[in-house]
Amino acid sequence: MITFPPTEIVLATRNRGKIDEICALLEESPVRVLSLDSFPDAPEVVETEPTLKGNARKKAEAIFLYTGRPSLADDTGLEVTSLGNRPGVFSARYAGPEENSAANRRKLIAELENYDDRSARFRTVVAFVDRTGVRYFEGVCSGIIGFEDRGERGFGYDALFIPDGHSHTFAELSPESKNEISHRGMALRKFVSFIRSGD
Ligand code: IMP
Repeated sequence: MITFPPTEIVLATRNRGKIDEICALLEESPVRVLSLDSFPDAPEVVETEPTLKGNARKKAEAIFLYTGRPSLADDTGLEVTSLGNRPGVFSARYAGPEENSAANRRKLIAELENYDDRSARFRTVVAFVDRTGVRYFEGVCSGIIGFEDRGERGFGYDALFIPDGHSHTFAELSPESKNEISHRGMALRKFVSFIRSGD
């Protein structure tokens, strides 16, 4: 029988940026975090679902079934107002399936060239799966898209995203400052509160 709160959870991601942020955010929580580095043969989960929630659930369920341990996955999308909330769930493959984050950022700069409204938001859905089922935790962070990459920290779209109330991009902020205000920070704090209270 699994005790609650679980002492160990597995992060269903190989994204180093996400692993570092989630580990920092769960440092003070009652759980010990294992990454997929401890499960090198775990299956690659392809994000085929049409929603962040569906993909987060798919990843967490696959890793729970493989490891037999409570598993947590995050799926994140960047919703750009002028682009009708694209790229959203397709944020990872925005510039094409074989492209990288730098190409995604270049495409975003090009697509926004003729728009005045550069507002956007990151949305994260965290799915937590254990033998009792699945729970979801959501976080949103609003901001604007810059005109060029700025900053060396973070990952993905961070060098272009200026959170509301700030003049620096996520990639220029310290990891602690990003975690305090980010979509992922918000979702993970809800998860920690659930783990502490069981509710
Ligand atoms: P996914 O959640 O791994 O599918 O990520 C979707 C896309 O958003 C990928 O291109 C990530 O690099 C990017 N991404 C996810 N989280 C963040 C973040 O916190 N900051 C910037 N980009 C992110």
